[in-house]
Amino acid sequence: MNLNPTPKPTFGNIDIQEEVERLIDRDGFYVILIRPIMQMRCLCWNEQTKEARSDCQTCFGTGYLLKFERHKCRDFRTTDNFIAKSLQQFATGTLLEPAQYFYLKKQSNISSNMFIVIAEWDGLNPIKESMEAFEVNIVDKHRGKGGKLEYYRVGAKSRPDITNRLQRAPIKNLQVIDK
Ligand SMILES: [Zn+2]
Repeated sequence: MNLNPTPKPTFGNIDIQEEVERLIDRDGFYVILIRPIMQMRCLCWNEQTKEARSDCQTCFGTGYLLKFERHKCRDFRTTDNFIAKSLQQFATGTLLEPAQYFYLKKQSNISSNMFIVIAEWDGLNPIKESMEAFEVNIVDKHRGKGGKLEYYRVGAKSRPDITNRLQRAPIKNLQVIDK
């Protein structure tokens, strides 16, 4: 993936990580992150062909067992000045037709083999009928002074097939990262 390095905007003495997390906490919404557990191959994995079954209901074709986590994030379409400024620098030349953009906290540790599921919630339970799945295909790690990771901004494309499978699959052991 070729992301152009973006010039670092300066915001005086503002702690960028703190500021982004405050905005996510204030205006964000809850999503499910589906994380492949890279140490745990799915039973459908074919060692000969090095392929997973694309229609596998356990691993969603990733070839790994999956972990479900609840995080809070913010989407990109915002008029917020601070966010808007850094957005303009977000890969104008990027490709891959992401359908949706998100800001996520550093603790999300998100990568491009993951899925983000937007959902409405009944307390800590996601409402199945409201779910919409996206595959993360652009990950921009925003770094501050000394290369310290501050937050992520990611692009993701719609995956209606995963959305469909989620209707049939139980969300097991949802780990609540953001309350
Ligand atoms: Zn599988």
